[in-house]
Amino acid sequence: MIASVEGLRGMPKIRPPFPAQRGVFDMPSNVNNTETYANVPLIIERGAAWYREHGTESDPGTKMFSISGALQRPGILEVAFGLPMDRLLLEAGGGPEAGHTPKGIQPGGPLGGLLPASDLGLALERPPFTERGVLLGSGGLILFDERASAVDLTLYFSEFCEDESCGRCTTCHGGSQRLVELLRRVMEGGGRREDLERIGVLDRTLQNANCLHGQFTPYAVRGLVNYFRDELDTQIDEKRDPARVAPGLIRYIISDPEAPELDEAAELCPTDAIVARGSEDEDEQPAGWRIDDPKCIRCDVCREVAPQAVRVEDRFVALLESV
Ligand code: SF4
Ligand code: SF4
Repeated sequence: MIASVEGLRGMPKIRPPFPAQRGVFDMPSNVNNTETYANVPLIIERGAAWYREHGTESDPGTKMFSISGALQRPGILEVAFGLPMDRLLLEAGGGPEAGHTPKGIQPGGPLGGLLPASDLGLALERPPFTERGVLLGSGGLILFDERASAVDLTLYFSEFCEDESCGRCTTCHGGSQRLVELLRRVMEGGGRREDLERIGVLDRTLQNANCLHGQFTPYAVRGLVNYFRDELDTQIDEKRDPARVAPGLIRYIISDPEAPELDEAAELCPTDAIVARGSEDEDEQPAGWRIDDPKCIRCDVCREVAPQAVRVEDRFVALLESV
């Protein structure tokens, strides 16, 4: 941020000197969240003891939490540190909509890691989060339910880390690229047993990156291995995705070819993968629709438009059964 204010490319600097000693244009500077600055006048006015009336020993005061994901009431709430996380996500946020169950939490922003739903009772303060290998960070909490794939989420956050790497050190920009490649391959159905060892090597290597961005990059994949290992194993060994979102492990099937909603689905399909059955034979009148699988990019639009007529199935299980 300091470099950007100075008109330079946003790159981390070696410290010391710290910004408070020499920051923007070499002047002493403080760079903090707006939330921190908002607390300061109140603490000066009313004193530290007043501030400590709320919160915990390690984390006094209150914090703004941004809650989102599979919640009926997402939003931003200010609560005292120490409140159990489930009171925020399940009580205030309403939890997932009826018929769905919490599967995990992504705390602390894209670098914060992953937690299983069994940790919903954790107190919102830094020590229990650090002990579980995740960050409380800026106070973002994303709840996901059984419809989300932990591997897919890990890929998403790893892609973010790769995009945001400034590129100064090979450890970080090369390491995050390799991590993304590996996870993409797993999602495409090409995961291998050795990938688990490679994830461990990348994790250990990234811990030597120059700044916190690189050092926190493996938090998501570490959470995947620590808390959602079954899911990763299933994708690698059985070529099956329990959440049915991995593009290489699923296929879209039309279960009711003559459903009227499919006309609209065919219009909206971005790759024209929904084709009229028999349309290649000019003598045969089209009777309903089918999906041309090689063209399908698994965007899910057709299932949203015609949920009764389209279903998703395990690709390799279906192939094996057909042999
Ligand atoms: S760890 Fe990543 S973001 Fe930090 S300096 Fe190295 S390349 Fe840049
Ligand atoms: S999932 Fe997307 S690409 Fe595939 S058939 Fe449906 S709309 Fe077309």
